Amino acid sequence: MDPFPDDWVTAAVLVAHPDDPEWGCAAAVAKWTATGKVVRYFIASRGEAGIPSLSPVETARIRDSEQRRAAAIVGVDEVHFGDHPDGRIRATEGLRRDIGDWLDVMRPDVAVTEFGGAQWAPGQPNHRDHIEFFDAVRDAYDRMTHPPRWLFAVGPDGTHAEVVDGFLDVAAQAIGAHARYLRELEPDLPVADHARRVVDATIGHDDAGARIVTFRQHRPAPS
Ligand SMILES: [Zn+2]
Repeated sequence: MDPFPDDWVTAAVLVAHPDDPEWGCAAAVAKWTATGKVVRYFIASRGEAGIPSLSPVETARIRDSEQRRAAAIVGVDEVHFGDHPDGRIRATEGLRRDIGDWLDVMRPDVAVTEFGGAQWAPGQPNHRDHIEFFDAVRDAYDRMTHPPRWLFAVGPDGTHAEVVDGFLDVAAQAIGAHARYLRELEPDLPVADHARRVVDATIGHDDAGARIVTFRQHRPAPS
């Protein structure tokens, strides 16, 4: 794997749901913003289907505020919510246009989205929202007159790695900002323990033992 590029100033992280940035690349985002880079989030839904014991309206309100707090912890001040339906994200013309329009306004140097493959690993299927969202981002990118220099997806089959030693604690804090959502997933597990477990499950190691977040380059298409 190559090191993740460093010769850029602004990045956009585009995902389907609140908490998707934290389950993937929050440690890398914390490192980038600590070195003066600017990162903005586009989140297609407000995650209103994520807390079944509460109404969608109340869930959306909580998840919006938890996501903004999580973003602030890793140095992200701008969070745009697209208001597409949680659980029914589809690569529609409307979603492609929303993504393309937002990227045209933000003009990031690098775009980072989430894993769009069918399964994370054998027997671990990806969420259909993620797969469709990835397709919409790739299509939006391909239509842009002035696209970002790169399009990466966080996750398996990485071509690039960002070393995130020193940023695991802040990543865990960002995950812990989704406290109400985490309690819904695991009512008996303390939020801090749950957050640490997510860090350990989502941040890998390189051969030398450094902790890394991995990204697959999609554009320019690797030769
Ligand atoms: Zn998600």
